[in-house]
Amino acid sequence: MPRNIYSSEHEDFRASVQEFVERTLKPRAEQMLEVKAIDRDIWKEAGSQGLFGLDIPEEFGGMGNDDYRFNAVAAEVLNGFNAAVGSCFGIHSDVCPPYIVDLGTQEQKERWLPAMAAGEKICAIAMTEPGGGSDLAALKTTAVRDGDHWVVNGSKTFITNGYQADLVIVATRTDPSKGAKGITLFMVEDGMEGFTRGRKLDKVGQEESDTAELFFSDVRVPDSNRIGEEGMGFIAMMQRLPQERVGAAAANVAHAKQILMETIEYAKERKAFGQSIGSFQHNKFKIAELVTSIEVAEAYVDDCIEAHSEGRLSAVDAAKAKWWSAQVQNDVLDECVQLHGGYGFMNEYRVARAWRDARVTKIWAGSNEIMKELIGRDLGL
Ligand SMILES: Cc1cc2nc3c(=O)[nH]c(=O)nc-3n(C[C@H](O)[C@H](O)[C@H](O)COP(=O)(O)OP(=O)(O)OC[C@H]3O[C@@H](n4cnc5c(N)ncnc54)[C@H](O)[C@@H]3O)c2cc1C
Repeated sequence: MPRNIYSSEHEDFRASVQEFVERTLKPRAEQMLEVKAIDRDIWKEAGSQGLFGLDIPEEFGGMGNDDYRFNAVAAEVLNGFNAAVGSCFGIHSDVCPPYIVDLGTQEQKERWLPAMAAGEKICAIAMTEPGGGSDLAALKTTAVRDGDHWVVNGSKTFITNGYQADLVIVATRTDPSKGAKGITLFMVEDGMEGFTRGRKLDKVGQEESDTAELFFSDVRVPDSNRIGEEGMGFIAMMQRLPQERVGAAAANVAHAKQILMETIEYAKERKAFGQSIGSFQHNKFKIAELVTSIEVAEAYVDDCIEAHSEGRLSAVDAAKAKWWSAQVQNDVLDECVQLHGGYGFMNEYRVARAWRDARVTKIWAGSNEIMKELIGRDLGL
């Protein structure tokens, strides 16, 4: 089915992101796997291509764009290349900037946004703690006021870009008696005394992305690094999670769609019993089902992208898009592995890596269970 949410401007932007993928990312695909990171020069190149400043106002070095469809296009193209790069760039350019653009002071915007837009400073957001990620309101990392500073203690884990980040938006507890209303966000900067990183975590997929533990031991953070009002951190996160989730949904569908297209080509070429494996009725019907489920998921996600561009996407609809697309992505990729036979289990085949890379999408940014919890609550259950 033809998609109808994108104009020629979006398609021109898609072509420019694709060109960046071909020129800069594809030749470095193996190197990124070896070093388990995206090197700094790649970040800077992406910044100079305008990939990171979509939401950032022009006066702070960005594109000043409030049409979310451009963000979705970037997510689609990057995830068509590789889910790890898609997630690292997505956290930096799609998830983090709104906190500063919407809630930051003029001075904070001037200090952080131009370097983020240029890819010179990498940003991460640290909500999850070793003790739990789903129950965000129960987070334990503390920030205690001391004059015009706050003293931060605690730890975070599974933080995308955590190892390389120059800037980390950290969710802390500033009032232990107030539950969700006692949470405040701070920008912790590389080099602040007492801020250290653990090892790069060893994951079953997305090896190219750096995912790290972060430790805060009496880190003195100036009040001028507080993002938004004291006690408003939880609300700030809840208000911005729908954008993270619709971005994740666009990424999930695009990732599975690309690998499915490659699998269809494989099914046409690979022979068994003297004929292409795609011509066996079972496989033909299976592929027909997969294409249908991708297109149906894409149609719902497209509606959500359009709704978000127009400022009318609800948190519940974003939750539906996120869990459903993650499920479809994982189901489709599992069948793609099956269609590749033994090659589908070999790391040198994109399909094998994509299958591993996709598993986390049912867990991060709010697990499928938490998404269903939100939907169920909205139904009055
Ligand atoms: C590769 C990767 C990158 C990540 N990047 C980031 C990042 O950049 N920043 C960040 O802050 N976090 C990040 N995360 C963390 C991620 O968001 C959390 O892992 C996720 O929210 C789940 O939290 P948890 O791991 O503590 O699981 P838990 O909260 O311990 O949950 C364990 C299981 O219990 C289920 N569960 C929990 N509560 C309920 C309930 N009420 N009803 C039903 N089931 C429930 C969950 O769905 C899950 O299946 C990342 C994680 C990974 C793996």
